[in-house]
Amino acid sequence: MTEPLNILIIGLGLIGASFGKAIRAQGLNDRSVFVLGHDRSLGVADQAVALGVLDQAVTDLADLPRVDVVVLAVPVMAIGDVIDDIKPLIGSLQVLTDVGSVKGEVVRAVRARLGILPGCFVPGHPIAGAEQSGVAAARADLFDRHMHILTPLPESDPAAVQLITQLWQAIGADVVEMSVERHDEVLAATSHLPHLLAFSLVDTLARESDNREIFKYAAGGFRDFSRIAASDPTMWHDIFLTNKDATLSVLRRFQADLTMLEQAIEQGDGDLLHTVFTRAKSARDHFT
Ligand code: NAD
Repeated sequence: MTEPLNILIIGLGLIGASFGKAIRAQGLNDRSVFVLGHDRSLGVADQAVALGVLDQAVTDLADLPRVDVVVLAVPVMAIGDVIDDIKPLIGSLQVLTDVGSVKGEVVRAVRARLGILPGCFVPGHPIAGAEQSGVAAARADLFDRHMHILTPLPESDPAAVQLITQLWQAIGADVVEMSVERHDEVLAATSHLPHLLAFSLVDTLARESDNREIFKYAAGGFRDFSRIAASDPTMWHDIFLTNKDATLSVLRRFQADLTMLEQAIEQGDGDLLHTVFTRAKSARDHFT
């Protein structure tokens, strides 16, 4: 009988715990999986066992059974320290992957801590999530019919890429591949800048003296737009500090366009406003 695939998840928050719940429920095609998990916060791994996220909680990373796959699901700026914690394990892994929202920084941290990029290392990022964080927010269907971006490196072993692809596909994800640089540019535009705008607008309004009244009358549009401002501040702090160039580049282009709209309003230039809004509506109507 084939031995189960032993998967260790480090970081049992929304993403790590949802991955554990999902892969325990699905298995890997015909092969069973055994899911171990570790979190630096006391009690979280035991809570994860109780919630059906894990088969076994791990308190000491220096004392592990055989591990085949490691999934790093900690905030981006914590990845380097975790790599130090699992250094002795890495040589025997089939796959080392992560779920961080910025890929350049994760690759830099792994190279800095190990001196090389090991063949088992295949960075990744699920395009799924929620404003809630922590193990209690875990959902087995979080990744179902969502994209999972893998950014394999020239050093990545094809067998490692194949195995991690199969694992994400087993839990319903649509796996796509992209370069590290392209990932960070695309996500800066589609995820990082919109979060910055939401945090900034909600903060501006919250600091006004009559903010209670403003939020009371905020209906559909503001509710939808501001939802992402409830996201975890630590995670987003890490994202902006580590995807600096790509976010600054798209932010500066956006600032120039916003200034143009400001001037159009000031000068009563309805034609310009109409042209921009029509172009944006057509673009929005055409993406699915
Ligand atoms: P979370 O805050 O819910 O969970 C992170 C967990 O990591 C916490 O339980 C924390 O205690 C643990 N942790 C932190 N440092 C650690 C360390 N050094 N060792 C062990 N455990 C440690 O966060 P999340 O939303 O699950 O995000 C995790 C990763 O997934 C981040 O890198 C984030 O960029 C990425 N991501 C998040 C989303 C989202 O919508 N939340 C979506 C895609 C990717």
